[in-house]
Amino acid sequence: MDIRDLFPKIAAAGVTLRVVDGALRAGPVEALTDELRAAIREHREALLAARCQHCGEPTAGYGFCDAHDPFADLPAR
Ligand SMILES: [Zn+2]
Repeated sequence: MDIRDLFPKIAAAGVTLRVVDGALRAGPVEALTDELRAAIREHREALLAARCQHCGEPTAGYGFCDAHDPFADLPAR
């Protein structure tokens, strides 16, 4: 799976990626399909290497940490 296709699929599945102590974590576990697990594993290095554009914190590929997420204040739909 192309990494650009991974984020919409993760979002659609209700899965969240986090970097915890340098390890990639995806959850909730019950939302993970085999396809998503394989795609996350495939792109693990790129996801771990992604850093917040503002503070350099690991972002698991989202581009912004929680503190600098420009979409965090938008109302949930
Ligand atoms: Zn940040």
